[in-house]
Amino acid sequence: MKRGTQGRILLLLLIVLAIAAFFAFDLGAYLTLANLKARQAELSGYVDANPLAAVAAFFLLYVAVTALSLPGAAILTLAAGAIFGLWEGTLIASFASTLGASLAFLSSRYLLRDWVKARFGGRIEAIDRGIERDGAFYLLTLRLIPAFPFFLVNLAMGVTAMRPITFALISQAGMLLGTIVYVNAGTQLAGIESTSGIFSPALIGSFVLLGLFPLLAKALVGWFRRRRVYRGWRRPRRFDRNLIVIGAGAGGLVTALIGATVRAKVTLIEKGEMGGDCLNTGCVPSKALIRSARSAHEIRTAAAYGVAPAEPEVRFAEVIERIHRIIAEIAPADSVERYTGLGVDVRKGHARLVDPWTVEIDGGDRLTARAIVIAAGGEPAVPPIPGLAESGFLTSDTMWERLRGRETLPERIAIVGGGPIGTEMAQAFARLGASVTQVEHGPRLLPKEDEEVSALVEAILREEGVEVLTGHEAVRVEGKTLVVRKALPLAGGGLGGGAAGEKPRPLSSLTPPLPLPPLGRGKEGDGEGFRAIPFDEIIVAVGRKARLSGYGLEALGIETGRTIAVNERLETLYPNIYAVGDVAGPYQFTHFAAHQAWFAAVNGLFGQLKSFRADYRILPWVTFTDPEVAHVGHNELSADEAGIAYEVVRYDLSHLDRALAEGANRGFVKLLVQPGKDRLLGATIVAANAGELIAELVLAMKHGLGLNKLLGTIHAYPTLAEANKYAAGEWKKAHKPERLLAWLERYHEWRRR
Ligand SMILES: Cc1cc2nc3c(=O)[nH]c(=O)nc-3n(C[C@H](O)[C@H](O)[C@H](O)COP(=O)(O)OP(=O)(O)OC[C@H]3O[C@@H](n4cnc5c(N)ncnc54)[C@H](O)[C@@H]3O)c2cc1C
Repeated sequence: MKRGTQGRILLLLLIVLAIAAFFAFDLGAYLTLANLKARQAELSGYVDANPLAAVAAFFLLYVAVTALSLPGAAILTLAAGAIFGLWEGTLIASFASTLGASLAFLSSRYLLRDWVKARFGGRIEAIDRGIERDGAFYLLTLRLIPAFPFFLVNLAMGVTAMRPITFALISQAGMLLGTIVYVNAGTQLAGIESTSGIFSPALIGSFVLLGLFPLLAKALVGWFRRRRVYRGWRRPRRFDRNLIVIGAGAGGLVTALIGATVRAKVTLIEKGEMGGDCLNTGCVPSKALIRSARSAHEIRTAAAYGVAPAEPEVRFAEVIERIHRIIAEIAPADSVERYTGLGVDVRKGHARLVDPWTVEIDGGDRLTARAIVIAAGGEPAVPPIPGLAESGFLTSDTMWERLRGRETLPERIAIVGGGPIGTEMAQAFARLGASVTQVEHGPRLLPKEDEEVSALVEAILREEGVEVLTGHEAVRVEGKTLVVRKALPLAGGGLGGGAAGEKPRPLSSLTPPLPLPPLGRGKEGDGEGFRAIPFDEIIVAVGRKARLSGYGLEALGIETGRTIAVNERLETLYPNIYAVGDVAGPYQFTHFAAHQAWFAAVNGLFGQLKSFRADYRILPWVTFTDPEVAHVGHNELSADEAGIAYEVVRYDLSHLDRALAEGANRGFVKLLVQPGKDRLLGATIVAANAGELIAELVLAMKHGLGLNKLLGTIHAYPTLAEANKYAAGEWKKAHKPERLLAWLERYHEWRRR
C-alpha cells in the first residue's frame, strides 16, 4: 500500500474514533445551553483560579470540536462570552474557530480532494478555476451569512483548490461579526432560552444583507477597475460602428460574420490577404502538399496492392501550382466581395489602435466602435541560430511563394522542429522524393501526444526515409550546411518544436555554448555529438508566436506575454477590446480561433446583457501525417499532469477488416474513460482519416454520450469508423457483469435439464 494511502487511512481512523467516542460517551450532553447555565458559576470560579490553564483548555476544546465538525460550536461560543467576557471571549473564539475550521479544511483536502478530482475530473477543474478567480468572495459571503453550516463550508472548501492561507484569513474575517454576536449573547447567558433565540429575524436579515455585501463589493470593484482603466481616454460621444475587427483570418472572419448576421454594423480590416494564415500559408497549402505527396507514395508502394510500383515522376512546379490553385478556389469564400455581400464593411490596410474605441487605418481614416476584436494572428518563430538568417531559410509563411516556379524538388531538405508542422512537412517532402533530415531538440516528435503516438509516427517516418534526429539541437548554419549536436537533457523533460499551440523556443538558448568544431570534422559518435547536415533548403518550424507589436497594443498598455492576456470572456485589459485566435491563444488552430470568435462577437455586442465564458475542454486537433493523429480532451500525458484518474481502453487497427483491406492497419483508437463510469475523458486516434473518425467521439464528449451509447449505435460495415465502436466494445469486455453472467450460466444449465 502506498504511504499516502496509509496516512489517509490512519487519519480517517483517528477522526472516526474521536467522533465515535464523542457520541459513545454522550459528550454532547455537556455542550448544551442548560448544562452551560447550570455550571457557569463553577466554570467562572475555575477561570479565576487558573486563568492561563483555563484559556488553553477552552481553546483546545473549541479547536477539537470545530476541527472534527462536532455539534456544539455555538454553545462553546456562548460559553466564551459567559466565562471570559466579551473581548477576551471574542479573541479566543475567533482564533480557535479559525484554527479548527482550517484543520477541518486541511483534513478534507488530504482525505477527499484526490478522490473527488478523480471522480469528477472536468467539473472540479471548472470549479477550481472559479475558486481561483472568485473563491475569496464566495467564502466571505458564506461566512457572513450564518445560515450556511460552518462545518459544511470547511469540508466543501477543502476539496477545492483554495489556498489554505486564503481560507484561514477570509474565514477569520468573515466569522468575526457572528462570533461577536454570540459571545456578547454569552455574556448575558442568564437571559438566553435557546441558541436560536440569539438571532432575531431582523438580525438574520441584516446578516444576509451583510453576506451579499462581498458580491456587491465585487461588482463595485469591477466597475471602478473598469473606470480606472479608461481614465485618461476620452470616450467618443457617439460610435460610428458597433464592432471593429482587426485581421481577416479565421478568427476575424468568423467574428465579423457573426456581427453582420445579427445586423450589427461591423468593419473588418485586413492588411494582407483575406483568409489569413490558414488559407494562404497554413492549413490549406500544407494539406494540398500532403495530398500530392500521398499520390507519390501510393505509386511507390503500389506493389503491396498487386500493382507494379514505380519511382514517381514528381512534377514539382505542378505540385506547387496545384497548391496555389486550391488556395484560389477557396479564396472566394473569404473574399472582400463575399463579406461585403454579407453586410460587413471590409477595409484593406494596416489597422492601429488609437484609443480604446478608435482604430486608424494606414495612418488615415479613423473609425470608432463600442467593441473592438483583435484577431491579428501569429507568425513563425525563428530561433537565433547563428548563420540562419543568411541561409535563405524557409518558413510556412515564405515557402509557398519561394518554391513557386521551381521546376525540381529540392534534393536535400533540413527541417528544424518536431511538432505537427515540421512532422507533416518532413513526411510530405520525403514522400515526394526529397532526402529529409528532421531535427528536434526534445526526446520525441509530437511532444503533446502520448509517447506511443510519437513512437509510431517516428517509426513510420523513418521507414519512409526521413532521418529523424530527436534529442538534437541546431547550433549553426554555414552556407548550405546545418550543424547539429546532441542536446543536453532538459530539466522537466523534452520540449517539442513547431507545434501549433506550442511555446516557440529559442533553440540555441537551451544549452550552454560549446566551442564548435570546424565543418566536416564533427561526426555523430565522435564523442562530441556534432553532425553536419548539407541541405538545398532549410525549413524552420519551431513554433509560432503571436503578433503583438506595430498596431497600438503598447500605447494602450494592453498586457502581453507570449500572447495578448485575455480573461475567459476574451476581454483584454479593456473590457471592450477582445482578442481571439493565434494572437490570444492558448491554442493555435483554425477551429479554435473560430470558436473563440463566437464568444468575442457575442460578448462584444451583447455583453451588457449577458456575457459568456469560453470553454476549451472538448477541443479536437489533428496532425495530418499518414496515419493521421487525432486528439480530443485528455490523453495520458495531460490527464497525469492534471492529476485526473482514468482507465485506458485501446483498440488496435490490425484487427479491423476495413483497415486490413485498405492496407492501413497501423494505428489504434485509445480512449481515456472515467473509472467506474462509461464517460469519455479523451481520445486519441492514430489512423488513416483519424481526423474524420474523431468527430464521433467529439460529439459523444460534448453531449455526455457514454461508451454504452456508442456501443449501441449502428456503424456501417466495413468502415474505419467501426474502430470507435470496437474500442467501446473493449471497454465493455473489461467490465463484464461477471456475477450476472455466472447466474445466467446457471439459468441456462437449468433450462437444459
Ligand atoms: C503550416 C501550417 C499548417 C497549419 N495547419 C493547421 C491545420 O491543419 N488545422 C488547424 O486548425 N490549424 C492549422 N494551422 C494553424 C492555423 O493556420 C491558425 O491557427 C489560424 O490561421 C489562426 O487564425 P487567426 O485568425 O488567429 O490568425 P491569422 O489567420 O494569422 O489571421 C490574422 C490576420 O490578421 C492580419 N493582421 C495582423 N495585424 C493586422 C493589422 N494591424 N491590421 C490589419 N490586419 C492585420 C494578418 O494579415 C492576418 O491576415 C496551421 C498553421 C500553419 C502555419
